[in-house]
Amino acid sequence: MVTAGGNRRPFRGWRPGIRRVLPRIPGEVTAVIAELKTRGFQAFLVGGALRDLLLGRPPGDWDVATDALPAQVEEAFPGRLLVHTGKRFGTIRVLAGEIPVDVTTFRREGAYTDGRRPDWVEFRGSVVDDLSRRDFTVNAMALDPLAQELVDPFRGRRDLRRRVIRTVGDPQARFREDALRMLRFYRFQAVLDFRGEAGTERAIARVAAEEPSLIAKVSPERIREELNKLLTGVAPGKGLRGLVRTGLLPMILPEFAPVVKEPGLMAHLIATVEAVRPELHLRWAAILHDLGKPATRIQDGTGVHYFGHEQAGEKLAAALLERLRFSRAFTERVLVLVRRHMFPCDPMMTDTALRRLAAKVGREALFDLLELRRADIVASGRQYHRAWRTLYEFASRIQALLQEEKVLTMADLAVDGHDIMDVLGLAPGPEVGRVLQELFYWVTEDPARNTRERLLGYLKEKKKNPPEDEG
Ligand code: ATP
Ligand code: MG
Repeated sequence: MVTAGGNRRPFRGWRPGIRRVLPRIPGEVTAVIAELKTRGFQAFLVGGALRDLLLGRPPGDWDVATDALPAQVEEAFPGRLLVHTGKRFGTIRVLAGEIPVDVTTFRREGAYTDGRRPDWVEFRGSVVDDLSRRDFTVNAMALDPLAQELVDPFRGRRDLRRRVIRTVGDPQARFREDALRMLRFYRFQAVLDFRGEAGTERAIARVAAEEPSLIAKVSPERIREELNKLLTGVAPGKGLRGLVRTGLLPMILPEFAPVVKEPGLMAHLIATVEAVRPELHLRWAAILHDLGKPATRIQDGTGVHYFGHEQAGEKLAAALLERLRFSRAFTERVLVLVRRHMFPCDPMMTDTALRRLAAKVGREALFDLLELRRADIVASGRQYHRAWRTLYEFASRIQALLQEEKVLTMADLAVDGHDIMDVLGLAPGPEVGRVLQELFYWVTEDPARNTRERLLGYLKEKKKNPPEDEG
């Protein structure tokens, strides 16, 4: 039996609850724990997996904590070791059947003088030492599934029941150790739909205001990963509103500094995130789509306007996504939505205009744009019913159009650059691209024109009657 101090037994496992959890631990994972215990070591399931099991959620990754040293862990699982990158921090990844399990030696840590990593790590100590360096009470429990013992020195079980996120130990000290935890505090609220403990939030507001340099030290990649999880959580608004309240949002994303000064705009962006389907690129597009509004705002006799805010917003969004080191492909996927989010949604639009819009943004982005517009309408609440019907009719027309013909891109043209060079006697160069574009526009007026015969005919006609400025 492990105790937090002295020989009190304040956290004896609540067996009925644990029994419900046990069958949901894969046998392969239990076998890893059993192997270590057979060799005389302690071994526990810890971290997010245990938290998720207790909540009845499917766990993400599996973590085991043990008093076996890294070399002893390696010895216990010959031929089943995966990567060794974590070894310096005492983590060995073991393949349990198909399931990767991270086995980490109990560790004690020194102070965090740089606000990022402990000055020293010692592979010694007890499971309680190990749990006490973890961030939140609900993440700081350990379960020995064979002894059916739950180690819960910080009352994580109670906080799970009350649905509250609270730091292990003094919140100010823990946030000063590692500023990323401030973001994790909101990430877990968004993902689990928990509330944040009030004292913990006060500590964040204080640390953020007193030592803004701490959060500036967190790497962009770690910020990105936390924000991704927060945005795709079930309650992103909980997380985002907290980041705004404490002043953290403009500290991690300076592009939001003018936005948080306009509570109505910020609330609209958050509402759009909550309304849009929980896919990463859509959630990012939702939070970023009106980023350009504060800079483009003008007021005249007819009211307030934001001319060109989608272009201004795209620039800001591009800088932000690049700084967080998102891939080019992902960035472009988000930017096209920001850039085009004001697309005219007019059910009376001609087929030609519709085809050109579809060709410009691509089939997939077209449906994303419709989804973003739907969320935007839900989030603004103005003229709800009319806007809704218009969107619905527009979406039906696009559906119908796409059903009867596939959206053309230039690659779908029945002729290619070589044909153009042959017929017109052109050398490779930008002129070939211009002619392709011209053919493409001609075809969007009537897709039946997209046959080799008709396109070659068009080109031959063009050769006979060159425009005057070319002749
Ligand atoms: P997820 O389901 O997103 O993986 P998780 O709880 O497993 O959630 P991880 O980031 O994978 O979160 O971290 C695993 C565990 O390591 C956490 O549950 C927590 O106990 C501990 N931990 C992670 N990051 C920190 C940190 N910055 N400070 C203290 N403890 C941490
Ligand atoms: Mg995890």
